[in-house]
Amino acid sequence: MDQANNAKVAIVTGASRGIGAAVAQRLAQDGFAVAVNYASSPAQADALVASLQAGGARAIAVKADVSDAGEVRRMFEIAEQQLGKVDVLVNNAGVLKTVPLADTSDALFDQTFGINVRGTFNTLREAAARLNDGGRIVNFSSTTLALNMPGYAVYNATKAAVESFTHVFAKELRGRNITVNAVAPGPIATSLFLDGKTEEQIQAFAKMPPLQRLGQPDDIAGVVSFLVGPDAGWVNGQILRANGGVA
Ligand code: NAP
Repeated sequence: MDQANNAKVAIVTGASRGIGAAVAQRLAQDGFAVAVNYASSPAQADALVASLQAGGARAIAVKADVSDAGEVRRMFEIAEQQLGKVDVLVNNAGVLKTVPLADTSDALFDQTFGINVRGTFNTLREAAARLNDGGRIVNFSSTTLALNMPGYAVYNATKAAVESFTHVFAKELRGRNITVNAVAPGPIATSLFLDGKTEEQIQAFAKMPPLQRLGQPDDIAGVVSFLVGPDAGWVNGQILRANGGVA
């Protein structure tokens, strides 16, 4: 059955693939109209939108590099024009390249901070002005922040910044009935985690949590669904570490 025009509206950044795509799918199932943001995978974003629409949801694909403030502003404008005023923002877009700090180039540092930190900052700043009262924001940190593994210095620093944004922004939105939380996944089987690792390294990560497996995108989509849903109305300014018990 086709979704009503008064469905709540969610923007999911970086939703063409991986965890973001699973979140977009889950929020559509939950009854949200969904803006599927992507930067460089239009075919995957379009295919996801087509499947959401086939399931009866209202969905659009919106190209925007989250590290660019102008593109983020346009993304919100397009979502508002085509779906309605935004209720939920899921700041999922992110990149990871594990390199020892000493070998990290200026370009990699700028790209990682540009997407993970400035990207989250850009969407939060836009959301402050545009989100409906009663809305929900979910940022993305990472369990790697607690593990302090070699190679993760710059990535972890970006996620530490995201956690700070989460705690402070939750307080700055006082009076709007908007919650701001973050989810901090452990290893999830997506290209961000799998690319560049040997089978042996992947198995070592899979054995780390007491639940003895890698997480799947749906494990995190369920957590985001909870945080943006009615049962999490009293959860605010928190970091939810969804990682099978690894840390
Ligand atoms: P992924 O499979 O590599 O997907 C990344 C997504 O981000 C893609 O849809 C990509 O879209 C999008 N993206 C990249 N740069 C972008 C930009 N500048 N603007 C807009 N979108 C952009 O990654 P993932 O594993 O799903 O990770 C999602 C989030 O979870 C990230 O914040 C990551 O740090 C976090 N996380 C992941 C894990 C894990 O083990 N996988 C663990 C902890 C935390 P395009 O292809 O269109 O560029």
